Amino acid sequence: MRIAVVGGSLAGLVAATLLGRRGHEVIVLDRDDLAPAGDLEAAAATAFRAGAPQIVQLHVIRPLGRLPVREHLPDVYAGWLDAGVVEYSLAQQMPPTLADRSPRPGDDELTMLLFRRSTIDWVIRRTAAAEPRVTLCSGVRVTGLTATAGDPPRVTGVTTDAGTVEADLVLDASGRRTRIDQWLRGIGARPTEVTAAECGVAYYTRYYRLRPGATLPGSPATVVNLPMRRFMLAMFGCDHDTVGLCLVPPAEDRAFKAVRDPAAFTAVARTVPQAAAWLDAMDPETDIYPMGDLHNTLRRLVVDGTPVASGILAVGDSLCTTNPTFARGIAFALQEVIHLAEAVGEYPVEELTKVMDELTSTRIEPWFADQAAIDAARLAALRRALRRTSASAESAASGGPAGPAGPADGRVDLASLRQAAGFDPELFRAQVRLLGMLTPAEEILADPVVVRRVREILASVDPPPLPDPSDEELAAALAAR
Ligand SMILES: Cc1cc2nc3c(=O)[nH]c(=O)nc-3n(C[C@H](O)[C@H](O)[C@H](O)COP(=O)(O)OP(=O)(O)OC[C@H]3O[C@@H](n4cnc5c(N)ncnc54)[C@H](O)[C@@H]3O)c2cc1C
Repeated sequence: MRIAVVGGSLAGLVAATLLGRRGHEVIVLDRDDLAPAGDLEAAAATAFRAGAPQIVQLHVIRPLGRLPVREHLPDVYAGWLDAGVVEYSLAQQMPPTLADRSPRPGDDELTMLLFRRSTIDWVIRRTAAAEPRVTLCSGVRVTGLTATAGDPPRVTGVTTDAGTVEADLVLDASGRRTRIDQWLRGIGARPTEVTAAECGVAYYTRYYRLRPGATLPGSPATVVNLPMRRFMLAMFGCDHDTVGLCLVPPAEDRAFKAVRDPAAFTAVARTVPQAAAWLDAMDPETDIYPMGDLHNTLRRLVVDGTPVASGILAVGDSLCTTNPTFARGIAFALQEVIHLAEAVGEYPVEELTKVMDELTSTRIEPWFADQAAIDAARLAALRRALRRTSASAESAASGGPAGPAGPADGRVDLASLRQAAGFDPELFRAQVRLLGMLTPAEEILADPVVVRRVREILASVDPPPLPDPSDEELAAALAAR
């Protein structure tokens, strides 16, 4: 089969590699330059590109993303490790408050991966470029679809700014800003159905390199992830002695736009003692990369039981985006393209849209709904904090609107599980399985053993307070120049 892939980023290139290895002829079209850089540092230095601006933001791969790569693309997995990707084991993830750190069967599944995103992409690009049945075309922008009329229309290829490309199957892997609905309208098809929910966060990421001989308070392979009152701070060692540090405020907290300035970024990070200790041991390697306009979106190509068109599928961010702080996107994309590679050839093209939509229903939609609910609750809390610091005396006096409802009877919420997990090894594993998307959230949060243990622990221990700066300290840091 001849397959045209629109977009040669993670989803598009992994799909192309898997499909090429199954004997299909694959052409990947990307508006940006897909040529792999000469080495990893050159890849990092040239990582920013307009077609996928998130590449320079802090990324991790959760267990649901790591396990299928190890199984289905062992050469890519080995290439990642050779390139310096860090396997962050369960033992390393355990906080110091956990007394019982003894291993259990299955712990290996709970390893995460830490890296600069440019590093994993560099390996994937080289892998795809070496596939004999995969052709990579850089600098080609897809502008529409070609199709034969029908109900639904049958897609037969794509139009580009360099001509038409015929294909038996078109894979839209063009990311969060896909034009798929415009393209579908152009062939007389119905648009897809999109559900959207607010993430409400902005990202500011900067990379550093550890100074030779400098020592950190702990291992660089430690994910510091502090969800504080006014912002979240995430920081961890990536490959080759680099460290990523990310500030994630609510998108609507306009005061945080100041952290585009290196002095303000550093001052805000330094209000957090763990970050200050790391900053003493490393030098900035990059500018500060801001990113906003982040949404949870879920796209369905089967609407009212019928595909909007046949011969076209969507994968990766074109299909679903979720709040990046939960690091779910790569795992979703990998699930989808592995399932797709197995389905192509097994089903006629006309049935593939439905086959993939079933995967969306069972494996993607529940996590999308989970994310939308988490974000709604977290945003309500952040907005209350923001309102309290605003000039409005009225709002400060009232404390703002009521917060999200507490957990329903018979279940706990993720925030409570996270607090209690620091004191119980089984709850810690349950939390990692949930965040790693190996076990459905509802299954864990409504598990009677989990519920009982969380309540017992939260009634008997005081979780250590977060190192939250006061509003005055934060205002001073944001004003630094
Ligand atoms: C701030 C941030 C942090 C994130 N952190 C994590 C994380 O820690 N872990 C995680 O799992 N996920 C994370 N994600 C999500 C992750 O980045 C995405 O899920 C993943 O990159 C999706 O890859 P993709 O291939 O679907 O799309 P993209 O990487 O967006 O690639 C789309 C490609 O399509 C090309 N393209 C677009 N339009 C056209 C066109 N018309 N013609 C030709 N080519 C076109 C672009 O040039 C680009 O190469 C994060 C996202 C953001 C925004």
